[in-house]
Amino acid sequence: MARTRTSRISGWDLVEAHSNPVPSNLPGALADLGVTVIRTTTGVEADEHLVRCPQHEQRTGKRDRRPSCWVNDETGAFICFSCGYSGPFVELVADALGVDRVQAARWVLRTGTRRVREDRPTRAVEPQPALTEAVLALYVPPPAEALADRRLTAAACADYGVLWDAAHRRWIIPIRCVSGRLMGWQEKGRHVFRNRPTGVKKSQTLFGAHLLDGGPAALVESPLDAVLIRSLGIPVTAVSSYGAFVSDAQMRIIKRNSSGLIVALDNDIAGIKGRDDVYTRWRPRGIPMLFFNYGSAAGKDPGDMRDTDVRRAMETAHLPSRKR
Ligand SMILES: [Zn+2]
Repeated sequence: MARTRTSRISGWDLVEAHSNPVPSNLPGALADLGVTVIRTTTGVEADEHLVRCPQHEQRTGKRDRRPSCWVNDETGAFICFSCGYSGPFVELVADALGVDRVQAARWVLRTGTRRVREDRPTRAVEPQPALTEAVLALYVPPPAEALADRRLTAAACADYGVLWDAAHRRWIIPIRCVSGRLMGWQEKGRHVFRNRPTGVKKSQTLFGAHLLDGGPAALVESPLDAVLIRSLGIPVTAVSSYGAFVSDAQMRIIKRNSSGLIVALDNDIAGIKGRDDVYTRWRPRGIPMLFFNYGSAAGKDPGDMRDTDVRRAMETAHLPSRKR
């Protein structure tokens, strides 16, 4: 009898542990957990809430001074773009309350919920424009104030093919395969960041690969940081891996087309892990490598640093063993 009862309970526990309940009032639930919504933006598919990362201090030892943790109102999924903390909503609840996933799921269920079915979009999907050269040609060279805002030059943008969506005031960052064929692009606005098409396989190519000339290269996460390095006149060819994860295909492109690499991925947990992975995997395969020297400069990526600090970090790039 007791045994039957136990097994029944654990069966339901299992269901709850694998469910992904999402509060119908997500900002309210966040408030109950002591997580303050700083701002809410309207995304294509759902609203997104910017919050101070609730686990940032535990994970990094530092306060989240420049919050970049987003919670999707529709799915409850969250991600901190700074420390990489991410997961389904119940995980945020479990960590915030210090309980296990079953208890967290129950807490969410008590707040009033909707269940998420990942296989069925809850809203009509916005029609996507065809991703052709003809559509890309409708975008224009970035205007002076946009360039100034990011310290980019028109010439560097032209070299990388970076354009501007004047209607929405967004950067248009083409994604091309090594042969030059257009695969899609990224749209980057003040509160919008989107890959077109969704799920485009960026890991097979490098932003700026066509500029590699057999000389020294630098690898950054963000395409616009690659454009910044060229805008500053730094004599390396910067390419972007579109993120902290660098694929073997991307490293093969670098190996074939450069004499050495300065690894300048972001100065955060994901970037440092990516940098060390790249070094461990590819130094033995014959790519000379140095690490971009963030030193004590404030800033988590080149775009976040002063021009003089970017130049200095590049000029004093170091071997892994020689930290300065
Ligand atoms: Zn964080």
